[in-house]
Amino acid sequence: MGDYMSKNIVLFGAPGAGKGTFAARIKEVYPQIIHISTGDIFREHVKNQTELGKKAKSYLDEGKLVPDEIVIEMVRERLNREDVKKNGCILDGFPRTPEQNEALQEIIEVDLLILLEVEEEVLLKRILGRFSCPNCGALYNKYTLPPEKKVEEDVYICDECGEKFEFEQRSDDNEETIKTRLHNYKENAQPIIKFYENKGILKRVDSTNTLELSQKEIKEIIEKRNRYE
Ligand code: AMP
Repeated sequence: MGDYMSKNIVLFGAPGAGKGTFAARIKEVYPQIIHISTGDIFREHVKNQTELGKKAKSYLDEGKLVPDEIVIEMVRERLNREDVKKNGCILDGFPRTPEQNEALQEIIEVDLLILLEVEEEVLLKRILGRFSCPNCGALYNKYTLPPEKKVEEDVYICDECGEKFEFEQRSDDNEETIKTRLHNYKENAQPIIKFYENKGILKRVDSTNTLELSQKEIKEIIEKRNRYE
């Protein structure tokens, strides 16, 4: 059997495991695939003060999970659009509870779940140092991956788009909410991982250095079957 393109991919892992970074790597290889980050969608709604944003804000601020029914409806609407049917998707940040996972099975067929694994102490460093370019979304880390050009303390030029911008943390990236978010992950992750493991469509990826993976290696993770049915 030849290579095949997994159309619908779930990126799974603790906060700070590198889901956004890995999604960007996948998009280098499959530019057409639709990246759906529920966290990004919520942040956009909060910023624009939509009805959904007003409902979600306090949960995001405290690092708590937005109630399942709200998240599921939002994701259902997004996944049912034509672009996803045509090009497939990378789900980043969904599902996060067994209930969300059950609902997901009714909406699309998941081809692969990639479990991003990283030491817990690395998570904290990543979360506390991460920031992104407000203009193009390029991801950086103050400690491990700053932009090449620094203008002054906390002011940079984006490597990707050339805009000048300032280091700004996500408002929920503080030590207090991180505890809640890690706790939520640990509480919910196991049954979801088991579900995909049992289906034979789970791949574990050491996400300490996913920026060093070649495009060929990324392609292999996505396309090689790990079990013959
Ligand atoms: P993230 O950017 O994935 O870390 O998500 C940021 C925040 O958005 C989370 O701490 C939750 O408050 C909310 N959120 C994102 N995705 C979900 C989800 N699948 N279920 C519940 N809440 C979510």
